[in-house]
Parts: sequence; C-alpha cells; structure tokens
Amino acid sequence: MRRKICTLLVLMPLLALFDVLQAQQAYICKHDFRKCDAEPKGLNGILHSFYQDYDVRFCHLDLSLQKHTVFVEGSVKTMAVSKKPSLQTLCFELIDTLVIDSVIYQGLPAVFIHAADTACVQLNPPVSLGDTFSFRVYYHGTPATGGFFSGISTAVSTQWGNEVTWTLSQPYHASHWWPCKQDLTDKYDSAWIFITTDTCCRAGSNGLLTAVTPVAPGKHRHEWKTRYPIAYYLISAAVADYQEYVIYAHPQGQDSILIQNYIYDAPGCLSYYKSDLDNTAFYLELFAELFGPYPFASEKYGHCQAHLGGGMEHQTMSTVGAFDFGLNTHELSHMWFGDYVTCATWSDIWLNEGFATYAQYLAAQYLAGQQYADQFIRGVQQYVMSEPGGSVYIPPGQTADVWRIFDGRLSYNKGAAILHAIRGAMHNDSLFFQTLKQFLQQYGDSVAVGTDFKAVAEQVSNMNFTAFFDEWYFGEGYPILDISWSQDADSLIIRVEQSTSTPVTPLFHFDLECMLFRGTGDSLIRLHLDAPVKFFRMKTHVAVDSIKLDPHYWNIYKLNSLNKIHEAEAPISFTLWPNPGSIIHYRLGPGFSGKYRLNICDISGRQVLSEIRYQREGILDLAPLAEGIYFLSIETPGSKAVRRVIRQ
Ligand SMILES: [Zn+2]
Repeated sequence: MRRKICTLLVLMPLLALFDVLQAQQAYICKHDFRKCDAEPKGLNGILHSFYQDYDVRFCHLDLSLQKHTVFVEGSVKTMAVSKKPSLQTLCFELIDTLVIDSVIYQGLPAVFIHAADTACVQLNPPVSLGDTFSFRVYYHGTPATGGFFSGISTAVSTQWGNEVTWTLSQPYHASHWWPCKQDLTDKYDSAWIFITTDTCCRAGSNGLLTAVTPVAPGKHRHEWKTRYPIAYYLISAAVADYQEYVIYAHPQGQDSILIQNYIYDAPGCLSYYKSDLDNTAFYLELFAELFGPYPFASEKYGHCQAHLGGGMEHQTMSTVGAFDFGLNTHELSHMWFGDYVTCATWSDIWLNEGFATYAQYLAAQYLAGQQYADQFIRGVQQYVMSEPGGSVYIPPGQTADVWRIFDGRLSYNKGAAILHAIRGAMHNDSLFFQTLKQFLQQYGDSVAVGTDFKAVAEQVSNMNFTAFFDEWYFGEGYPILDISWSQDADSLIIRVEQSTSTPVTPLFHFDLECMLFRGTGDSLIRLHLDAPVKFFRMKTHVAVDSIKLDPHYWNIYKLNSLNKIHEAEAPISFTLWPNPGSIIHYRLGPGFSGKYRLNICDISGRQVLSEIRYQREGILDLAPLAEGIYFLSIETPGSKAVRRVIRQ
C-alpha cells in the first residue's frame, strides 16, 4: 500500500503535464526545435524542453522481428549524459500501441508513465550534470502499418514472392518501432542493433555484422554494430530470406570498401540485378572523388531489398525496392548528404534530398555523358515549373506534413536545380566541388541548415549568395523572360524583360548565358539580370545569326518570347545623367527621330508623368517628387525602353 501511494505522488506532476498536453494539440514546432517559439506549446514543446535535458550517446536495440509480421518485442538500452544539475525525469518517444513492460534504471524497475506516444521515467537517484547514465526499456506490440512512412512494414514481394519486414523511420516514425529520442540535432554516437529472427532469414542493419548467434531452436541473432554517429531515423532493420552478395569498391586513396547486399533468395533474383549491383562500386568511387572519402569507410555500404517503391538511405545499408542507376546513385549519395551531414531541421530537407537528386545529375554527367545529364536537368527544371509557386525551404508551420517535406517537385527537383544554378553562378567547377567538400568536412557527423551551406559557398567563392537564397531557397516561383535583340552598324542590343510566376518573388537576380552564333565562330556572353527590364549593348563587328540562351541549362526560367527585331523597330537606347539626381538629362541613341511618349512611374507602378515629346535630348525635372526609385520609359509605336532613375 505504501509503495502505491509513493508511486501516485511521483506520478502526479507527470499526469498534470499530460493534461496540458492533451488540451494543446497545436503541433507548432513539431520536431523543428530550432524553430520553436521561446515558449513552445503542446506535446512537442514539452518534449523539446525535456530533450534539452540529456544528450544521447549510445543505443542497443535487442529485438525480435519476423519476416511476415510487424510484431516487435525486446528491449532498447539507451546511454545518455545529463545536461541538468539534477536530472529527475527523462522523456522519450514511443507510440502508445507498443506496450512498455518495464523500464530498468540502475538495476531496478523505475516508475514511468506512457501516454500520447511519449514516455517519461523517474530517475531515482537523479543524475548530476555531465554524468553518464543508462536505462533499458522492455516493450512489445504490433504497430499500425501502411504507407511509405510507417515506421515498420511487412509485405510479400509481388515480383519475387518473398516475405519481408522492414523499417523506415523518416521523418517521425522511429518511435513506431523503438523507444528513442527523435531529435535531429542529437545523433546517437554509436549503436548496436541486434535482431533475433528465424534461421531461414537474415536481418540487415547498420554498421558491421559482428556475429550471428544461435539463441534458441530455429532462432538466431544478427548482431550489427556501428561506431559512427547516426541520426535516430537512420537506424534500421530488414528481415527476409536473403542471400548475401558482396563486392568491393576501390576509391582512390582509400582502402577497399565492402559493399554488402542482402538480396531475396529467389531463383533468378540476383542474376536479374547483378550488373546494377556491380555498378554500385563505380558510383561509390565517383562520389568519393567528387565529394571526399566515403564517410563510413571502416564499416560498409550495402543494400537490403524490401517491398517499397523507391528506397531509403539507411546509414551504411540502404533499403530499396529495386536496383537502377537513378535510385542507387541517389541513395548512395545520401551517405554524404543526409547521413554524414544531416539536415538540422526538416525545414532544411534540401540538404538531404536536393543534394541526392543533384548527385543523380553528377553520376549521369560523369558516367553516362553530358547529353544524358542535360536531358536529366532539363526534365528537372520543367517539372519545377509545372506549378507557379512553392519554396525549397519548408516553412516551420508545414513540417508536420510529411508529404510537404518530401515534395518531389520542391525538395528533390527544385532542390537539385538550385544547386545546379549555384554551380553555374560560380562560373568555376573547382570552386563548386571545393564548396561541397568543405561543407562535408565542416558539418560531417553532425547537422546543418541550408544557410550553413550558403556560408560555405560564400567563403569558398568569395561571392554573396544572399539574394540567391532569398529568391531561390526561401522565395518561390521562377522568372519568365521576354527577350528581343537587334543589330545596328557595330552593336548588338539585347533587351530582357523579366516577370515572375508568383508575386511572392517579384525579381530574380542571375546571370543568363547566351551563345552567339556568327560566321566567324561562336561566343558565349553573360547577361546579368537584376532589374525588370535590362538593356545590353555590346560591340560586334560580325553579324550575329542567332542566339541560344543558357546552353548549359544552369537556370530555371520560362522563355516567353525570343525575337530578333529589325533595325527600323530596334529598341530605343538612351543615356541618363546624373543618376541619381533631381534634374536628370537624357539623350536618345543616334539615328533616333520622331515622336515618343515619355512616362515616369514610381516603384508602386503609379504614373507621375506622361507626355509626348519630339527632341532627342531633354530634361526630367524630378525636384517636385519624393526621393526614391522611379522608372522612366520611352515608347514609340514599335518599341519601348525602361530605365531606373533615382530621385535624390
Ligand atoms: Zn533521397
């Protein structure tokens, strides 16, 4: 009786906590702890504050899994370090469907409650600041399953007939099969994953298979151990009647790397995929050259086959539905981008998916040829422009929506396209690859946000990417261009008018490459676009026959029109001085005659002057206007020119 009263007293504050939790269902800062309000609310706010209390160091999953069911039972030991002077209550996540049988702390059952997919344990005695402690959770149950992101799934392969059970924890579903701290910013420093299953089966997981131990008649335990830091969602297991197929990669300057594949033990399955599997070695060698050494070299890379569409980049052992060039290069590249460096919040999923999709482009470029790569990136850009809006960055309010995080058009394709645009903007491949390598070195075994990559790119290239990130990463949409060009005696004049697909981003600043084709040979020029209307005039002594825009497909843009204008209707050119000023002179280009309309608009588009004039030279009296930016346009029936004037 006495013991019961004690338990109740201990539970009172925790139960009060969960009352609050049930009342507040606002998932305001779900798992984006860096983005939470100063006083985060609801379940995740409470978890957030508890998650600040300890650092995870190590986990040991010792679970029983079978190929035909998602039933899971066993225990998970967690080692952690207290970040509080006296840590008395520790919380972690585990869905309610899984029943906690006991929590053992210092060799004795501890008091705990388990509700709202969260468990909190009383640590008695409390843990002092900086001290390491451990606890083990015994549990069992059958989680709900279904869908791509469901924590744990089981199925029969329709192609090969094999039963398979596999886990997929990204982004919030590790707690659907094991008790864990789902915090991207706190990687487990190392992990053991022991899976007991029927002797007909193998269990694949992270790190190295250190032993297969018989534990009972008809049962054996696969004992995997990894000594590399690992995010909670990258810990995995897959169970089936697998055969093992092992090859090695030989990246330059590194020891050979084990590539361990668990393929269904079905007639014809291995031979069907063998050449695709063998190619993994070439992909790994290429990426090691482009990105830097394979990050998990002392363990392995590998695949576990499972019945899912696509794949998942589980650290050192991707889980995949099939094998092909695109999928396998994508998942492998995640070892660098996603696993070694992990997005610090789900808002920054670009660092995982945009980069892995761009790695597919790089693999195509270096292994299949430029033509194939061009086709790939053009497809990516077209897909991006199939809708007018959407940002690569996931606003914190949208990260509870799994399909927004993993939006194929935005996180994958637009993410890859803007990385390609950064490469183009640098005008120098060695700077681009140096940026990738330095970013990996700086944030390896840890986490980063999108602007961390921006900072590295700026440091390496000595360029400013603020406008680029505001427009392409945080901003939405794409530029729409209307281009006209003409030639007079010795000059080429190009006029570029830019509108955008959404008012969210009213202007994009970027360099547009143009290939000029002319009799004496082709030449590449670069037009810097930084205003709604831009004129470029350049000396050219040979007639230009035609123009090809963006021949390397660096940029996302829609070309609305590209016209050659005959001399008679050539766009007007004019000079302005002084600008800024209050009395500004202008002079129209040589050869201009006739009447024209002169308009001045303010920055909001309101017209402040509109009149017909005849003289080639004139004065704009801006003195009565407020200081600021205005647009001067000069228009004839055949053409129009716009320039920015600053009233000062
Ligand atoms: Zn991916």
